[in-house]
Order: sequence, then C-alpha cells, then structure tokens
Amino acid sequence: MFDTKQLSHYIDGEWVEGGEFTSVINPATKKEIVQIPLADASKVDEAVATAKRAQKEWALVPAPQRAEVLFEVGRLMKEKKEHLANALTLENGKVLEEARGEVQEGIDMAFYMAGEGRRLFGHTTNAELKDKFAMSVRAPVGVVGIITPWNFPIAIATWKSFPAIVAGNTVVWKPATETPIMAFELAKIFEQAGLPKGVVNVVFGKGGTVGDAMVHHPDIRVISFTGSNETGSHIAGECGRQLKKVSLEMGGKNAVIVMDDADLSLAVEGILWSAFGTSGQRCTACSRVIVHEKVKDELEQRLLTEMKKLTIGNGMDEANKVGPIINQAGLDKINDYMKIGKEEGAILLAGGFELTEGDFAQGYYFAPTLFTDVKIDMRIAQEEIFGPVVSLIPVGSFEEAIEANNDVAYGLSSSIFTNDVNQVFKAQRDLDTGIVYVNAGTTGAEIHLPFGGTKGTGNGHRDSGVQALDVFTEWKAVYVDYSGKLQRAQIDTE
Ligand code: NAD
Repeated sequence: MFDTKQLSHYIDGEWVEGGEFTSVINPATKKEIVQIPLADASKVDEAVATAKRAQKEWALVPAPQRAEVLFEVGRLMKEKKEHLANALTLENGKVLEEARGEVQEGIDMAFYMAGEGRRLFGHTTNAELKDKFAMSVRAPVGVVGIITPWNFPIAIATWKSFPAIVAGNTVVWKPATETPIMAFELAKIFEQAGLPKGVVNVVFGKGGTVGDAMVHHPDIRVISFTGSNETGSHIAGECGRQLKKVSLEMGGKNAVIVMDDADLSLAVEGILWSAFGTSGQRCTACSRVIVHEKVKDELEQRLLTEMKKLTIGNGMDEANKVGPIINQAGLDKINDYMKIGKEEGAILLAGGFELTEGDFAQGYYFAPTLFTDVKIDMRIAQEEIFGPVVSLIPVGSFEEAIEANNDVAYGLSSSIFTNDVNQVFKAQRDLDTGIVYVNAGTTGAEIHLPFGGTKGTGNGHRDSGVQALDVFTEWKAVYVDYSGKLQRAQIDTE
C-alpha cells in the first residue's frame, strides 16, 4: 500500500524540498492521500541546469547501454505492477483492472523503447558524386520538457520519457498536481534501475508556474505536452515565438459508428467499454454514437439495459467497473453540459445527474448518461465533456455517418461496427482521425503503433510507436567525401 505522507522533487538524483505543500485528494473518498510541494520557477532552473549537464555525458553512452537501463525499468515496473496499479487507483480513481492495464502499457513501452537502443535507424543512401558517402542519423535534441495530464499519469509519462531517454536526451518532467504519485514511483524506479543522476528530473508544481517556466526556458529544446486544447494551444503559441519544437496531444470527440448490418451485441459492449471506462475521462473515450436509423431503437434499448448493469463506485473494489470523476471541477463541467444538452433539445434517456446518495457522497460520482436525437452541430456533439456521457446521433447512410464523424474540430479516434468489407475499407480510408478501429470501441491503443490525432487534437506529432522518436531526435545528414579533392554537389556531377 502507498504510505508516504509527503513527496519531494527529484533533481540530480536527489529528493529535494522546495515550495509550499498542497494536498492530493483521492477522488473516490475526497480524503487526502499525500502532500506535494509546489515549486517556483527557480526549481525549474535547477532541474534544467542539471539535465543540461547530464545530457552531455548521457548522449555519449552507446544507445544499447542506455537501453539496458530501460530494460531494468521495465523489469522493475513488472515486479511492482500491483503496487503501482493500487497507487494509481488511489490518486486517479480509475478502477483497478484499468489501472493494471495502464501500468502494463508503461511496461510494454519500456521493453519496446529499450529495443530501439539497438535500432534508432537512420538511412544510408548513395551520394551523387564519386567516392562520397551519405547517411542520415538521429541526434538527440538535448533537454526535453515533459508536461503530463492526470488521466493517464504513468502511461503518458512513459510514452514521452522512454523514447527521450533512449535517444540520448535528458528530461525535466512536470506531472499534473492531481496525480503526482505515479511520477514519484517512476522516479524511484529510474533511480533503482541505475539511471545516471540528472537524466530524469521531476518538478512538482502548477502549470502556470512550473509548466510555464519550462515552456520559456531557453535550454529546454522540445516540449512534449498532453492535456487540454486550451493549455496546449497556449503552449504552442509560446513555443512558436521561441522557435521551440513542441509536440501536442490534446482533446477528442470520438465516435463509434454503428451500421445497420453490425453485430449489435458487440457494438454495445464496445460502446460501454469505451464510453464509460475511466468514467469517460480518456482522450479516446467514445462520446458520440453515430447510428444508422434502422437500428437506432434497438441499439438504444440494448444500451439502456446494459448501462443499468454498470457497477459504479470506488475503483479499489474489484466489483466496480466505473470509478469516480477526478474532482469537483470535473463534475461541474459535466453538469454544465447536461444543461446545455437539454437546452439544445437533445433527449436525455439515462443518467444526467451526480450520484450523491450513500457511499457515493464520499466521492465525485456521475451517473452514466445517454442523450439521443442529438444533432451533429449541438455543443454536446462537438465539445469534449470528459465524463460518462454519450450522445446518440442518428444518420441515414454510410456516407452520412462518415461525414458526421469528421464534422468536429478534433481528430483522435473513431470506430465503425459493420460486417460489410467494402464499408470497412472505405471507413478506414475516409475517417479522418489518427486512430481508427473496426468492430471495436474507440479505445485500446497498442504502444508500438503511433498514437495521436489530426486536426484540433494535435500538431502533427505522435506519442508512442517508432514515430515518437521523431519528437525527441533531430535528423542529421552526414556526407563523407573520400575522394581527396574538392567535389561540388550539383556542379561536378558529369
Ligand atoms: P490540462 O491542460 O489542464 O493540464 C495538462 C498539464 O498541463 C498539467 O500538468 C498542467 O499542470 C499543465 N499546465 C496547465 N497550464 C499550463 C501552462 N500555462 N503552461 C504549461 N503547463 C500547463 O489537462 P488535464 O485536465 O490535466 O487533462 C485532460 C485533457 O488531456 C483532456 O482534454 C484530454 O483529452 C487530454 N488528453 C489527451 C491525450 C492525447 O494523447 N491526445 C491523452 C490524455 C489526455
């Protein structure tokens, strides 16, 4: 069980004090779990100076040796999986089964990125001149700034820090204040795995202070951010002005399409899992169901029946499938959208209210909610609610379904349930999201594939997969002329 009472920052391999303490609350009980110090900008300066110093040496360690540390990190995470999952449920609220899944994602990422230590492939190619050699190699960027959200506090950190480390960068990481325990635990694992001092540094603090200082620090060469669009677009502007590389993974308004030939039982299972898992607080959560009008009534009925069976409560109890909302602000936002949906004329079929009776009064709980007869342009069909709320949008054809899916500002994940092979291939071509599922819900990404979205979800980069390395490396073109004379490209080619 997690029993530390106060956490410290982790800088240069030391646990250091700094800043006033604030409470971290368990969303299932509203009770304090731990206290964290809130740093000021000077702690960021300290962490960056350390990371800069450490990076010079770390970059010279052969990549397969850097990878050895990651193999050990993966092994330790595996050994501590149950402990990590418990602590994750404590701070984030997601049910234990999902917490274990999230930790597993981190373990998978450790072994996958450790494998990159023996790849990190560049390209060799032919030079246009005689006795000349040409290749391109990946070079580390330098000090990397990582800013992470509360909803996947360990998985997202591993998506970012592991590729950064294996590629020879050093890291300053600011986790969300709601979920600092995973950062503390991961830092302990880095330490135990023998990662040299200063390669990863953790600074706890507020976005507007610590995050902002990282974004503006001249020695941080890349910011890798996951979080809301509001924060992400602000950071993008600030980085743009400094010509700083920035990778953004932000919100989603993901849809499941259910066609008239779909296996409805499977579709219902897929919708329930992706809409109500983590209480809808996933960037890939299904928050729209685009349904062919021929099967709309039946789908509604089946969803209502199955939604009644969802067990809601403290994620520590294995019997529960849906946990709490992260905090009061999260609940307030969901409540606002209930009002908006009703005012817009959507029909509320189930839920729509906070759960406050009995044990629910101890935490932040919201009933799984289903709106129907939602129009594509309603705000509840366009904006990220980040709660257990689904909007059902009826359509008359496959083409209309694709159009409805694509007609939002976001582009993270989409899914289609159909048994028509022609529709399957058309859908994977025409759905404009970064991730497409066929006959599965909108969640369930695997770490060796690129993760990220199009349009308002991101800015063209990807977390995870080999593509993540592009964020944390610069391409360097190298020419070696062994002719012993001056050869001019494009001129001496005859
Ligand atoms: P958030 O934007 O409020 O916070 C994210 C992080 O940014 C936190 O660490 C926060 O402290 C920091 N931050 C806040 N203001 C800052 C500033 N001015 N400068 C620098 N850093 C700052 O997001 P959240 O509420 O923690 O997370 C939920 C959001 O994250 C949702 O929109 C969700 O869709 C998104 N998300 C996206 C993905 C993805 O990969 N696309 C994955 C998970 C979550």
